Amino acid sequence: MNVLRRGGHFFFRRKAFFCRTMSDRLNAPSWAHGLFEEIAKGEAPSHKIYEDDVVFAFLDINPLSKGHSLVIPKKQVTFLDEMDDETAASIGKVLPRIARAIMKVTGAKCYNVLQNNGSMAHQVVPHVHFHIIPKYSKEDGLGVGWDASKPLKEDVTDLKKSIASQIEAESKKTSGKI
Ligand code: 5GP
Repeated sequence: MNVLRRGGHFFFRRKAFFCRTMSDRLNAPSWAHGLFEEIAKGEAPSHKIYEDDVVFAFLDINPLSKGHSLVIPKKQVTFLDEMDDETAASIGKVLPRIARAIMKVTGAKCYNVLQNNGSMAHQVVPHVHFHIIPKYSKEDGLGVGWDASKPLKEDVTDLKKSIASQIEAESKKTSGKI
């Protein structure tokens, strides 16, 4: 069996071992593994629009509309819920700034921020990324199809309490690291 060393990880030339994030959440294609890390390091090409010590942002290669951009942590994290507080704070700080710049330059008045987690939720690249997608008309940009006309009917008291306690327990930790 051939072994390749790439980006500090061993990749085995056998399909079953090729994906690092083969899980019940994300079955990412092999080309997507390590891609955004390489882009953030400047080892793979991108149209960079922003960079600091923690965050990197660049234009999407298959834009849904003009200015469609991706904002990522430089550090490899697959899902949003795996991100530590410091990285999340760094991203949160610059997201509005990047969105403002895209809107100002493109003239778009509306936009969506999209962040997918897991194959079922349309995530392809196994590295947390926030899409900023300008919306110029009903036809372009992100199409969102959900039925928002069904009011909440069931009793959610337990659900609400459970989620609130979970957040409280998490917040008691010194950081959001899992
Ligand atoms: P996801 O479906 O994982 O939320 O979105 C992945 C995004 O990454 C897609 O919008 C896709 O066009 C973009 N993408 C995939 N490969 C590349 C690449 O090599 N360069 C850039 N700039 N964007 C990419």
